[in-house]
Formats: sequence, C-alpha cells, structure tokens
Amino acid sequence: MTDFFAQLDSQHTQKHLPSLQTPLGERSVYDSVAFCNRCGSCQQVCPTYLLTAEETFSPRGRNQAIRLLIEGKLNLSRNRPLLKAMADSCLLCGRCTEACAGKIPTAEHILELRRTLQTKTLPPLLHKLLSWRNRRPKRFALCIRLGWMIRRLGVIRLLRTLGITQLNALSWIHHADDILPAPAAGLFKNPFWSTKTHAPEKPTFIYLPSLEAEFLMPDLGAAVLKQAAQKQHVLVWKNFSSGLFEYIYGDLRQSRRLLYRLIRRHQQTAGGKLPLLTDSIDVYLFLQKAPQLFSRWPKKKQQAQLFVQNLRFVTDILPKTPLRRIQSGRIRLDKSALFSCEGKPFETAEKILKTQFRKNFVECSYKNADTPAFGYSFVQRHLAHSIMMQNVQNIARTQTGTVFTLSGLSALELNFYLKRFYPTAKADHLVRLHG
Ligand code: SF4
Ligand code: SF4
Repeated sequence: MTDFFAQLDSQHTQKHLPSLQTPLGERSVYDSVAFCNRCGSCQQVCPTYLLTAEETFSPRGRNQAIRLLIEGKLNLSRNRPLLKAMADSCLLCGRCTEACAGKIPTAEHILELRRTLQTKTLPPLLHKLLSWRNRRPKRFALCIRLGWMIRRLGVIRLLRTLGITQLNALSWIHHADDILPAPAAGLFKNPFWSTKTHAPEKPTFIYLPSLEAEFLMPDLGAAVLKQAAQKQHVLVWKNFSSGLFEYIYGDLRQSRRLLYRLIRRHQQTAGGKLPLLTDSIDVYLFLQKAPQLFSRWPKKKQQAQLFVQNLRFVTDILPKTPLRRIQSGRIRLDKSALFSCEGKPFETAEKILKTQFRKNFVECSYKNADTPAFGYSFVQRHLAHSIMMQNVQNIARTQTGTVFTLSGLSALELNFYLKRFYPTAKADHLVRLHG
C-alpha cells in the first residue's frame, strides 16, 4: 500500500510525500509507519509523553493511530479532534527517531497527518505574516520594521496593559513581545536591512541568513558574517525563503516550489559549486531533505542531491582553536531542532564545546528536554511552558552558566525563561562563542 496519505487525500496528491528518506533507506510513508513494532523504546525520550503519560501523546501511540487510519479502523472525520491534538502536540523534535532501532521518522508521519487534516496550526494572523516572507518579501520586511518601530514607541506595552493581547487571536503578539530582545536604537542599523548588497565580484561562499538572523537578531547575522568573511568572499542572499515554513505549517507544493527556486538559483551561481551556509539548524536539516521532496521527479531529485552536497552549517566555519578569553562557568549544548538531534552539526558543536570548556561542559541525559523548536509555544502554550520549565530546572540543577543553541529562535525562547526563573544563566547561539 504505497502513497497512503495521497490516497486518503486523493484530491490533493501533490500535497503529500510518496516516500521518505530514512537513515535506513527510502520507504513509502505506509511502510515507514508499519515498521513500528510497538517496542516502546522511544517513550521515555518523548517530551509530550513524559509530561502527559498518555499513550496518545507518545511516538508509539501516534504511529499506531496513523496505522489504524491506514487500515480503516479509525475514521478520519469522526476522530478529527483527537488526531489534530496528537499531531499539533508533537514537537517534531525527532528524539523518538534517535531512540528507535528502526530509525522511524515519526515527525514526518505527523507532518503527513497534518497535511491530511488540512488545518492551520499557527494563529491565523501570524501564519499570514510569515507566509508573506515568500509571497511578498518586501511587504514582509516592511511589516517587521514597522513591528519593531511600534514596539519601540511602547504601543505593544500599552496593548498589554489594556489586556488586548490576551485575546485569543492576538496572544501570539504577547508571547513574541516576551521573547524578542528590547528594540535597541542600533537595531535599525541592521546591515541586512540596508539596500547595500553583500555581493563580492568573485564569491566563494553563499550565506542564506535565517529569518531571525536577518530580522530579529542582527548580532547573530553579524557574527556569522564575521566568521565567514575571515577566509571567504561571502555573497548574502537576503530575504530568501527556504520553504521550511511551508513544509511545517503550509502547503507542501509551495514548499517544493520555494526549495526548487533556491536550488535553481544556487545552480545558476558559479555553476552550483559554491558552499551554501545557514545559521539555523532547522533550515539546515530541512534543506538536507531536498531529494525527498522531489522523489517523483528523477531529474529534480538529482539536482537536489547535488545541492545537498554543498550545504554547510555554521559549525563548519567556527575556528577549532581555543578561545583567547575563556568564559567561566559551566556550559551545555541545547540540541533543540526540528526532525533530528543527531548528525554532523550536533557532533561538531559538541566537539567544539568540549575542546573549549573541557570539564565545564555539562553532558545531558537522554531524558533532558530541549527548547521546543520555533512555533510550538505559539500553538501549545501550556505544554511548551512545562517543557521549558523542565529545561530551566535541569540548567539550574547542573549550575550551568551558558547554554549554547544551534538556532537563534531557540536562544530567544530559552533566554526569556532563564531571565525569569534562573537569571544567572543565559542562552546564545553557538556562533557567538567567538563574539
Ligand atoms: S517508533 Fe520505534 S522505538 Fe517507538 S515503538 Fe515504534 S519501533 Fe519502537
Ligand atoms: S517528534 Fe518529539 S514530540 Fe513528536 S513523537 Fe517524537 S519525540 Fe515525541
């Protein structure tokens, strides 16, 4: 039984993946789900199962529900609310895949279920704003600047005082205001906002800044450029969407279109041979999936495979030499990411930190929850809060002073909780290790 989700949602077959690339080879989505033997090895690493102790919110429960759906034993329309709760509560963190001997990609199954249910997960206004990044990039950039200006003028503070941001449709503004740094005057001198293009005559490297590096954390973008520019002529592709947002929250067809646009642009720049760098682990892991999105089109799949070979994460450009000024205090790595928490970038990041900090590097247990990836706290406020509190407790228990993340958004989210509940610690993106 191949292409199950496409059969179930026969009107929109292009909105589903016919097969998944798993660490153990390519499988149809159905085969991948059916491969779960219900051993339960994944239960103890799943943050939602650890919190709820309900099988429904465990990787095994989620996979079994999808299997029952395939076998026609679970009616989709009658069980829609339950299925939606199962799908929306999943962090897509991939910790279950790491613990599973069969490397079953439960997060991918969940995304297929979300596409079948066709529900909008994010608050509508936030969804609209984020979807402009690819459809109306200039309007998106303008909205972000306006947002910063409105915050700087104190309008958001006033709305909060009046209780307007408590309204359901606007509560995401409240949370965004909580996690974003205070709008400093220098923010408007953000190099990514100027019309000046970072385009050397003979580029040797392409930098695709993440949304946060470009619009929310100029220090992060500047730190990546500083590291990359030491040895390379860096070409910056500003306000260019990778398709990740559409993959998670939108339409797979749109995600494919955006990803292919990126692959073509890369091919047309110096013959597709330049390394392409990103500072977000989520974007990096998504781009690694490029061949999976084009499995129906052999030529595009081949182009995607070549594209993947040129992908780089910031851990590849960080110096391996010891720091000049050693930071005191204990440090740890928050492996927060979408889809997976194992692979080369994680290993390299751990190696860099262990080399720099030796005994001060705090090893994490397999049960330690990391910061949920972007978007989760806007959708699952209470679960996200509980996961973050566990995270903060672990940081406090191990007396960690600095937590390094591989994504700017995770650092923002974690910093907000640390400031409130354990202010002696702080979170930062790994690339800022060298200032
Ligand atoms: S997903 Fe993997 S680890 Fe979890 S129950 Fe299924 S086979 Fe076991
Ligand atoms: S992806 Fe994360 S939250 Fe979802 S089932 Fe797996 S471990 Fe649980």
